[in-house]
Amino acid sequence: MKVTDHLTRAAGRTLFSFEVLPPKKGENIHTLFSHIEPLLEFKPPFIDVTYHREEYVYRQHPNGLLEKKTVRRRPGTVGICAAIKNRFDVDTVPHLICGGFSKEETENALIDLNFLGIDNVLALRGDPIKSEGYFKPEPDGHSYACDLIGQVANLNKGEYLDEGQDDTWATDFCIGTAGYPEKHFESPNYAADLRHLKHKVDRGADYIVTQMFFDNEQYFSFERRCREAGILVPIIPGLKPLTTKSQLTMLPRSFYLNLPEELAEAVRLCPDNEAARQIGIEWCINQSRELMAHGVPCLHYYSMGKSESIRRVAAALF
Ligand code: FAD
Repeated sequence: MKVTDHLTRAAGRTLFSFEVLPPKKGENIHTLFSHIEPLLEFKPPFIDVTYHREEYVYRQHPNGLLEKKTVRRRPGTVGICAAIKNRFDVDTVPHLICGGFSKEETENALIDLNFLGIDNVLALRGDPIKSEGYFKPEPDGHSYACDLIGQVANLNKGEYLDEGQDDTWATDFCIGTAGYPEKHFESPNYAADLRHLKHKVDRGADYIVTQMFFDNEQYFSFERRCREAGILVPIIPGLKPLTTKSQLTMLPRSFYLNLPEELAEAVRLCPDNEAARQIGIEWCINQSRELMAHGVPCLHYYSMGKSESIRRVAAALF
């Protein structure tokens, strides 16, 4: 079932959802299942599975020469979505990115998803590869998420790349897109970022999931600016309980976001990670409560591979 149908069915009740990472190559899918199982009691209508593109690593040969190798550490998003859906009877949302994909490969991935009975995709551009300073699309790939969204929307009309249009082949994907309450880091300003977000919705995005934020005012202001700009689709806030002291610097560096001084100071004063985790959980519960009272359709939690803190947050709320 589509994410938007779940939101409509909830009729004003706030839903709980979360995101998982594919296990690292060579690891067992049962480890992932064991992270998901404790969260099922909170009845997530859908679970997102992230997509991780290739990275470049340098291997040193005995003669000292370095060889550049392409590796993918977390492959398998499509298969994992199917495995989660079949095992737990819950809808899954594979993340699909522009980076590393030609349009033809994207079409093939969408055909696979359609065969597997997966009704949703979160369409993203993806970040630049770590060793590259800026995002480089494949020669026949998409440069921006709006173009990927356009391709999925075309498939929903039965428009395949080389086959022309045939309504009987039309898919029916619900398309999610990313939004940034604190602005995407490459955007020159909020107005430009919002214009691009509106364009993604106009091309076919059915709902928005936000980047994580730690100050609800950022979300409220983002939501207000979206509505004023005519972006009327559901907006799902993305949240993450802070779990270690090192995330005080890692999260701003990786996700280009701000941590409120009250939270940062409390975590800084913690003697150890367990104390920091407790503060992170309490902060996230308070954020979630305020967002629920505001009437958000769903709270979406970033697990970053760990579910225990999310379980503790959800247990206080759902
Ligand atoms: P876009 O919407 O294409 O925007 C990228 C930048 O270009 C923005 O600055 C935007 O303002 C600008 N822009 C957009 N359209 C245009 C245009 N037509 N002309 C000029 N500028 C334009 N990454 C992964 O690799 N895997 C994941 O699974 C993943 N999951 C994510 C889930 C969520 C909820 C979020 C918020 C992010 C996720 N990311 C993931 C990270 C995401 O890929 C990066 O933030 C990426 O840098 C931007 O992706 P986007 O889809 O927002 O890009």
